[in-house]
Amino acid sequence: YREIRLILGDQLNASHSWYKDDDEGRVLYVMMEMRQETDYVVHHRQKILAFFAAMRAFADALGTLHDVFYLRLDSDENQHDLSANLTWLLELTGVKKLSYQEPDEYRLESQLAQMDLPTSVQRSCVSSEHFITQRDDLVRYFPQLDSADDKSGKGLLMETFYRQIRKQTGYLMDNGKPIGGKWNFDSENRKSLSNQQSIPEPLLFKNDVCHIDTTLKNMKIRTIGNCNPSELLWPISRRQSRELLEHFIRYCLPNFGRYQDALSERGWSLFHARISFSLNIKMLSPQEVIERVIRAYEKNPDTINIAQVEGFVRQILGWREYVRLIYWHFMPDYKQTNYFNHNRKLPHYYWTGDTKMRCMQQSIRQSLDYAYAHHIQRLMVTGNFALLTGVSPDEVNAWYLGIYIDAIEWVELPNTHGMSQFADGGILASKPYVSSGNYIHKMGDHCRNCHYDIKAKTGDNSCPFNSLYWHYIDRNLAVFEGNPRMSMIINQWQQRAPDDRAAVLKQANIWLLDLNAL
Ligand code: FAD
Ligand code: SF4
Repeated sequence: YREIRLILGDQLNASHSWYKDDDEGRVLYVMMEMRQETDYVVHHRQKILAFFAAMRAFADALGTLHDVFYLRLDSDENQHDLSANLTWLLELTGVKKLSYQEPDEYRLESQLAQMDLPTSVQRSCVSSEHFITQRDDLVRYFPQLDSADDKSGKGLLMETFYRQIRKQTGYLMDNGKPIGGKWNFDSENRKSLSNQQSIPEPLLFKNDVCHIDTTLKNMKIRTIGNCNPSELLWPISRRQSRELLEHFIRYCLPNFGRYQDALSERGWSLFHARISFSLNIKMLSPQEVIERVIRAYEKNPDTINIAQVEGFVRQILGWREYVRLIYWHFMPDYKQTNYFNHNRKLPHYYWTGDTKMRCMQQSIRQSLDYAYAHHIQRLMVTGNFALLTGVSPDEVNAWYLGIYIDAIEWVELPNTHGMSQFADGGILASKPYVSSGNYIHKMGDHCRNCHYDIKAKTGDNSCPFNSLYWHYIDRNLAVFEGNPRMSMIINQWQQRAPDDRAAVLKQANIWLLDLNAL
């Protein structure tokens, strides 16, 4: 062979230009299952199984056209370290060129960059040909970052990026104007679910991955979560990923925006697409998803309206691309920030769901069952609780990075550290996403089944979110001073009677003394 081409586990992009080469047997494609990947955080078992199953399916398909070397987890030759395995393989084959696609994670980028290759081996890094933007593009959309003395990142807005990228790509644009006459349909969206509204059945696959599960058992890989390895529900091929997308378009898209913030005990994925795993490991491309959804809207304007489609396109074209640009611009310092100096440990129920708080119990239990929670469960239930109670951002990040099927650091970290925990001090979000129990009550039906009383602010049965919310506001008054987006809430708090405030703070302190008891 003349060249080794490394394919990382989240680079299953079958349309990559690499594979269009007729390399005439001169290229060896290399894929590896390694303990460095199963062990850098404790993952959900379904996540490891889905990754390895998808990698194996991809290698099998690639192997029909090209030469592939696939190192399995239990192979005797496996040193379980990317650099060590590559060095060994280069020596073994005598190949003088190593190529890889741009990794999405800083961790892997650094590892490859620091790899000590013999001078005779040429190294080449190519695009993964997946994203719409380039990873160092943030300054292109926010030129002030380049010139300003203040490099803190304050004042960046996703909306500013989003409007530019809509114009640049032409998605949902007509003659330079947004289709539907406005950029944002949030005011029409984000409703709670009525009891009359039926919820589609999620499409679940039944992939038999018992053979991989046995390897995990034999190798004593530590995991969290529940799993039936004879019926893994996640897509592990491009064909299944496309089926999931079609299912979403048919049954969920007509109501996607409307209920994208709803919480409900009647379903665990509601009108969400559940395609983040397929997207993040590149079995689906963002362009194809956006174009397919826009095509469905154009063909079916009576059933799918612009508010639903714009709400969806905003997530992929807007948020997904944006968080990646933030990640690559601000790493590695980004991960070290801890704006509020929070240092509590996560309560035990994040690993069991055994809590009397119904909203938390449901969000965590379904995360353990399915390796999935939708955005509002992640942001306004489990994330909200962790921020209100002052849990260390490192603890929170490790939990989110482990438990979710779609969790890869470039997308998990900005969402958790930035959007959910405000640990970056406001680079990603202009104000912290926190709420009392009222928001959870307004958006869903958990409170009616809860041990705690949503209406009560103090007392043994009062909803913990209610007092913890005000405790958080009160202890950060000085921090929020000067943030216009927080001024209304601060005034509200300060106008309450001193006795009332004292009682609420006292109640919150009782909860904080023993969070594990909630
Ligand atoms: P849908 O609601 O159907 O949305 C469609 C697609 O839009 C998603 O598949 C996803 O690709 C994209 N999207 C939506 N919101 C975001 C967002 N905020 N950032 C980036 N892409 C977005 N997403 C991940 O892919 N990996 C993560 O590790 C991850 N961690 C998160 C942690 C926290 C604390 C929060 C608040 C959000 C996190 N998200 C993460 C974003 C979002 O919650 C998930 O993308 C979404 O729930 C995936 O489910 P879905 O495919 O059904 O999404
Ligand atoms: Fe959650 Fe409070 Fe409602 Fe219980 S009462 S479900 S803890 S918001």
